[in-house]
Amino acid sequence: MSPESALSAPDPDLFDKIVNLSKRRGFVFQSAEIYGGFRSTYDYGPLGVLLLRNVKDAWWRSMVQLRHDVVGLDASILTPPQVWQASGHLANFSDPLVDCTNCNARHRLDKLDDPDTCPTCGTSGSFTEARDFNLMFKTQAGPVADTAADVFLRPETAQGMFINFANVLNTSRKKPPFGIAQIGKSFRNEITPGNFVFRTREFEQMEMEFFVPPADSQRWYEYWCQTRMDWYLDLGMDPAAIRLREHDAEELAHYSTGTADVEYLFPWGWDELEGIANRGDYDLTQHANASGEKLDYFDQANNERYTPHVIEPAAGATRTAMAFLMAAYDEETVNDDTRTVLRLDPRLAPYKVAVLPLSKKDTLTPTAHEIFDIVKGRWMADYDETQSIGKRYARQDEVGTPFCVTVDFDTLDDRSVTVRERDSRQQDRVAIDRLDGYLAERLA
Ligand code: ATP
Repeated sequence: MSPESALSAPDPDLFDKIVNLSKRRGFVFQSAEIYGGFRSTYDYGPLGVLLLRNVKDAWWRSMVQLRHDVVGLDASILTPPQVWQASGHLANFSDPLVDCTNCNARHRLDKLDDPDTCPTCGTSGSFTEARDFNLMFKTQAGPVADTAADVFLRPETAQGMFINFANVLNTSRKKPPFGIAQIGKSFRNEITPGNFVFRTREFEQMEMEFFVPPADSQRWYEYWCQTRMDWYLDLGMDPAAIRLREHDAEELAHYSTGTADVEYLFPWGWDELEGIANRGDYDLTQHANASGEKLDYFDQANNERYTPHVIEPAAGATRTAMAFLMAAYDEETVNDDTRTVLRLDPRLAPYKVAVLPLSKKDTLTPTAHEIFDIVKGRWMADYDETQSIGKRYARQDEVGTPFCVTVDFDTLDDRSVTVRERDSRQQDRVAIDRLDGYLAERLA
């Protein structure tokens, strides 16, 4: 099935296939599996760590490297309570929790299709009153329990940018409109984690806070909604499987004048990859009031002081990596066999090149190593010399490797290799001294 036809006829097994492929090929493992598994936490294996890194690199490149108006940050995960007091997380970062008195299952009230029926046991009217459950993980800093200070694992990376606003303004020579971007782990004690890595208690975010003059905030909000959608499309998302959904008035946070979610059509329906919000001056004002520090900007040209408004595109790296995996998954029939191929954009593919000597014979090994040395400095490459060449091509297709380079016995005479392209399966004979240029043209 091509990605286009997959949409009109959704594959009901896609979710299971992705979970299975992830485990079988080393994208994602259940955490602490040898001890029976730690529920809803996952470890990224040799291929998953590359995919995730490529998603994050693509984000960083577009949000930081290719712009003169955004700088990076890596703030601490452990955060003192004052930050969460000021941000509103201590009071408000909670989900409504209900317990089923019949089967003891816990659910998030706002995520239930029917707020009166327990989806676990099907009983109606069995829920307790909803109570607010704070999602932040609390721990202690310091060795002595009773004098140790409470600290929190951050539930989002965003506050690191707000509390460093003045530091960055004073050191980076940036002025509004400018942004601070960060990629890192966040932690939420989710009531109902699930759908594989979609909702976990430990996850990675890619967030950017863009500080603008108040009068320009709507224009920048629209700009970032468009720019972020373009990022997904540029990396190969099918336009029919991704959408921007504006929040309606009831959904908006009290301080926000506009919020939209980037949603992907997951096997269970449309769900969020990223939120883009016009947060007004809420965050800087809260931290300025709570800390007593000035978190504003003096615009010399207009001789006015103002608190910048903030546009925040906040995406999940782990969720997005899974969406790209699902979007790329394809099966096609070739010579009565089913070929599984991940049609990942080469920028996201874990390996860009696989070097495959036709056989393990000593005569081929030195040349195969020579080829690996040519490609490895520039592209993440795999080297595999066992099994039939057909099986090895199939293994590379299944993990999305755009090019396989085969070293065969003719190579020893003609100093050429066979380069096979993943999607078309087309093979070209390429001279070894042209290989670098050949790949660079196609992987750029
Ligand atoms: P949700 O409504 O799904 O709980 P949210 O609206 O609270 O998410 P934000 O606070 O806007 O999420 O976080 C920004 C992004 O971080 C989300 O769009 C998502 O991609 C990611 N994210 C949030 N919570 C989780 C989680 N528990 N597991 C994985 N990714 C998450």
